[in-house]
Amino acid sequence: MRPRPYVRCRGCDLVGPAERLDYELSDTGDVDWGQQVTWQCAECGFLDSIASDQVLALDATHTCVDCATHTPCPATAARVECDRCGLIGLGPATTDPEIAGQLRAIEALHEMELRVQQALRDSRGASDGPRPA
Ligand SMILES: [Zn+2]
Ligand SMILES: [Zn+2]
Repeated sequence: MRPRPYVRCRGCDLVGPAERLDYELSDTGDVDWGQQVTWQCAECGFLDSIASDQVLALDATHTCVDCATHTPCPATAARVECDRCGLIGLGPATTDPEIAGQLRAIEALHEMELRVQQALRDSRGASDGPRPA
């Protein structure tokens, strides 16, 4: 499996899996940090390029509610993607009600943004005007 580094989002300050992660693989099968690594936050949609010193240590484990697989993750993770089935569950950090609340608020906001963007795309598609690439 390709490595999936966890970083703290500089947009929403939460730790979670990436919506988008683009990198080159090094000869050792790890992320080639000499190249640009593009990362997008799955919680708030913040697009960033990340460096190896931002990657958090996997110092905790997440248990999947669906398949019971243990996935290593940072203790600060608010969301963790199951290594086996890909289900994204609540990370260890959400035992803190403040972080759980922050996560809910950011995800609700992001979902609203996505819906607005979709509506804009739909309305553009309806007319025959030029569309941005
Ligand atoms: Zn974020
Ligand atoms: Zn699972």
